[in-house]
Amino acid sequence: MNYTILHSCLPSSTRAGIKKCIFVDPNEQATLIKLHDSYFELFLSEEEIQEAVGSLAEKIAADYKDEVPIFVGVLNGSFMFVSDFLKAYPHDCEVSFVKLSSYQGLTSTGIVETLLDVSEDIDGRSVVILEDIIDTGRTLQELVHLFTNTNVKEFRIASLFYKSEIYNGEYNIDYVGLEIPNRFIVGYGLDYNELGRNLTAVYQLKQTDMMNLVIFGKPGAGKGTQAGILKEKYNLVHISTGDLFRYNMKNKTALGQLAQSYIDAGDLVPDQVTIDMLQEEVERNPEAAGFIFDGFPRTTAQAEALDQFLESKGMMVNGCVALEADDEVLTLRLLERGKESGRSDDQDESKIRNRFAEYNEKTAPLKDYYTNQGKFHSISGIGAIEEITERLSAIIDQLPK
Ligand code: 5GP
Repeated sequence: MNYTILHSCLPSSTRAGIKKCIFVDPNEQATLIKLHDSYFELFLSEEEIQEAVGSLAEKIAADYKDEVPIFVGVLNGSFMFVSDFLKAYPHDCEVSFVKLSSYQGLTSTGIVETLLDVSEDIDGRSVVILEDIIDTGRTLQELVHLFTNTNVKEFRIASLFYKSEIYNGEYNIDYVGLEIPNRFIVGYGLDYNELGRNLTAVYQLKQTDMMNLVIFGKPGAGKGTQAGILKEKYNLVHISTGDLFRYNMKNKTALGQLAQSYIDAGDLVPDQVTIDMLQEEVERNPEAAGFIFDGFPRTTAQAEALDQFLESKGMMVNGCVALEADDEVLTLRLLERGKESGRSDDQDESKIRNRFAEYNEKTAPLKDYYTNQGKFHSISGIGAIEEITERLSAIIDQLPK
């Protein structure tokens, strides 16, 4: 397809929320848009959505042709859906709205708040909830609670979009417009940090086919050597958090000064500062085929923060590799290295063993975190450098992109 970069040929309603150039096939809807800092690609056209809304209205109308149901739209996301649904609904009906919120950014915060109650007299009436999207089902649970203490005749649930892969399955969903994969979408009422609601089509967060690795390794296991080889072999950028901190603090960047202020006060540097440094480094390397994250994450909270940050860029951790080695072998290796380099922490056996203990303690929860995501791989770090690179490559070559 031939794309021209043309912002101005979009409908003005679409243009409003979009900051930058968009790739547009002149005969179709925008295929790639940018909202805030993230790219989204066309997922459902206006026609496909209207067809799904029309057939939902038809199905529901067939069930309620002998009575006047109350449709309850869930704000903010459902406003466009409710509007089009009502226009397609062929019989008498009433409409009301509730407002709940659970999403911030690209992932659910899990907090569901009721901001508006249904005001109509709903006793003895049939109520059909009109949800824009059902994802985990947390919002739905809150909605059902809203209606459990009322005397409605009947209570049903309709959702235009439904992410069946992650729905908790607690309640039956009576009417579904379209089942969609577990990817973040915007448009047709759905927002990304409040932008994108006015788009008439639906867009999916763009995934990149990058290769992003998290690498762990005990001191002396050859992590630095292997990261250096892998970055050449796969055109990756090696981000060592230790180096990143030293660079930012030495050059007195804004983030470096911020980190220094916490250190000077004897406090831990908050994870967000590290994430911001990582973000800057990722943005400095737009051509990279991927990144090797080394030294971060060190806690489960940091791993979650890294996932969230990468998701906002349409990226993800593809795999986590740990270079394992027997403590005795590593101790000898480090003592040897200490003799040559003069590094004091490599010359004291008790200090070395403490570092191993700390590594085991810190990485254990992370191993669980990445194992649960099916991304954890461990390889032996003992052997010739080339052998270890081969073991790592065998894993990397099979990682899903
Ligand atoms: P749940 O409580 O089922 O996890 O999520 C339901 C609410 O989260 C929806 O009403 C919607 O506001 C928001 N949500 C869920 N998935 C998405 C998505 O892919 N995109 C957007 N923009 N919002 C979503």
